[in-house]
Amino acid sequence: MSTTVERHEFQAEAKQLLDLMIHSVYSNKEIFLRELISNASDAIDKRRVASLSDSEIEFPAEPEIRIEVDDANRTLTLIDTGIGMSRSEVVEYIGTLAKSGTKEFLAKMKEAKEAGSPELIGQFGVGFYSSFLVADRVDMTTRRAGEDTATLWKSSGDGTYTLDDAERDEAGTSITLHLKPADEENGLDDFTKEWKIREIVKKYSDFVTYPVKMEIERTEGEGDEVKTVREMETLNSMKAIWARDPGEVEDDEYNEFYKHISHDWTDPLTRIRFKAEGTLEYTMLLFIPSQAPMDLFQFQQRRGVNLYVKRIFIMDDCEDLVPTHLRFVRGVVDSEDLSLNISREILQQDRQIQLMRKQLEKKVLSEIERLKRDDKEKFQTFWQHFGAVLKEGIFGGFGQSENAEQILSLCLFDSTKEERVTLSDYVSRMQSGQEKIYYMTGENREVLSHSPHLEAYKKKELEVLFLTDPVDEVWTGSMPPKYQDYEFESVGKGSADLGSEEEKKEAEEKLDKQKDEFGSLLEALQKHLDDDVKEVRLSRRLTESPACLVGDEHDMTPQMEQMLKSMGRDPGKQKRILELNPDHPILGSLKKAFSENADDAQIADYAHLIHGQATLAEGGKLADPARFSRLLTELMTKAM
Ligand code: ADP
Repeated sequence: MSTTVERHEFQAEAKQLLDLMIHSVYSNKEIFLRELISNASDAIDKRRVASLSDSEIEFPAEPEIRIEVDDANRTLTLIDTGIGMSRSEVVEYIGTLAKSGTKEFLAKMKEAKEAGSPELIGQFGVGFYSSFLVADRVDMTTRRAGEDTATLWKSSGDGTYTLDDAERDEAGTSITLHLKPADEENGLDDFTKEWKIREIVKKYSDFVTYPVKMEIERTEGEGDEVKTVREMETLNSMKAIWARDPGEVEDDEYNEFYKHISHDWTDPLTRIRFKAEGTLEYTMLLFIPSQAPMDLFQFQQRRGVNLYVKRIFIMDDCEDLVPTHLRFVRGVVDSEDLSLNISREILQQDRQIQLMRKQLEKKVLSEIERLKRDDKEKFQTFWQHFGAVLKEGIFGGFGQSENAEQILSLCLFDSTKEERVTLSDYVSRMQSGQEKIYYMTGENREVLSHSPHLEAYKKKELEVLFLTDPVDEVWTGSMPPKYQDYEFESVGKGSADLGSEEEKKEAEEKLDKQKDEFGSLLEALQKHLDDDVKEVRLSRRLTESPACLVGDEHDMTPQMEQMLKSMGRDPGKQKRILELNPDHPILGSLKKAFSENADDAQIADYAHLIHGQATLAEGGKLADPARFSRLLTELMTKAM
């Protein structure tokens, strides 16, 4: 070994994943080639884009991906003319797993392995590491475009790898797999066979825009004249799939294309193909995945929709083409009109991009609508994975978005009556005279369904929606949208005046009377709770519970408060309103104790007990649990 050799450890998660690869019983092992070709094609794209702005970087006249086989040594080598990697990039990209969600994935994988489901690997997509499905040793020589030195990376997947200086004439990457012995029963075909390689490339990588070449040996002539000729052959058609006649493209081809661009290993849920002709010409080929990537809620998420101009790759993850609430969409937009030199910086202001973005949203929303109408099962899958993201689109930055109503019509919510109801179901079941769509936000259905806030609604058999995604706090927040002219109303806010005009009036009068009766008690309680609540008042929404906490119309909900805190922001102290049920026996006893001149300390204790109880009833956290539990213990001791 030369002195330049360094031995490195894989990062812990990378190590675990490699280990999984090596011992995997994942049957579809041939996909390693798809993964390596995808990486090579990405690398060539990157080199082309980099060459536009960096004069040090040349783009080869004939970019290519080459496959070489050495039968005797049982190796398969993939050589590309891509951007290559510097030594530190090798460490960063290959030695560590940057993918977010890796930990969660590995935990799931462990569970699944015990349950015998190795196909989970496919859901994560392990890229380069899939080499170890078929090889027990991998060598990689890579030279970064614009640099003079190359790096040799070697690993047997045993937790360590070595780095060494190397020679390479051109920028690019060569990856040599030392193949495991063929074992067809376990999906290990003989990957040194020309026909096998040809088959795999055709199946998974036909549309790759650079030639995938291999030297083919063939015999020529007859009798004594027979000779062997070797020549380079391109194995893929390189035809952009979105530019082909739709009638000619098979589902499988679309699916493989999807996997190529998304680096997902699972078939997409659905696809959208659209061609605009006229003043603006462009083609869109879009996919909705069948499951959420692990990093859907992490905003640095990469891959989305790639931008092409006249079949030439311009950039991946073109954010300006895709509204954030559709960030799960994958695919390609190919424009006939944009300049080949368009840069990320000017995209945002480009009118054509804006128009395409609008069109993209329209097409995606109408495809989701189609699923909802024609394919209930797929729609449910869609909703389960992406519903919470889609809902971000209801809120458009300055209040209601343009498509709010359409998105609302696609939403599924749990309610007091059913699971996963649509708003049109809800509206069709509304009671005569009901003017609002009632909802409640909170952590989960279980907690919400037992909340005291619902009591009056339950009694009147009014359906209430349970909104349990964090995003629900946002769109119902300061400027909630309307659905078919119906306003949304939180059961945890305002005064809950329900029923007909007559019933309301009656309730009002009764409450006025009770206010006189309980007035001084309320004042006394308020005095002791001044730090925690802004008002203590009598309630119209409680029928069984003694108390609950509510907000004013524009108050922040406790969930929103929690969300802000978890984002490291200080929402300031939020005071809510403590509502008491005048018909509850506790109130009667309290009033009695108060009028019999119970001492002030006693009233303070009761006030804190009631406030604590109301906090717990809605699944909230007590500010001072020790005090609450001491008071409760004292009270029980006295009572028993
Ligand atoms: P993914 O491709 O999903 O990001 P991989 O593990 O396959 O994950 O690759 C990790 C990174 O290594 C890539 O994002 C890329 O930056 C780099 N890489 C992989 N293969 C090549 C290649 N042939 N040429 C240049 N860079 C590569």
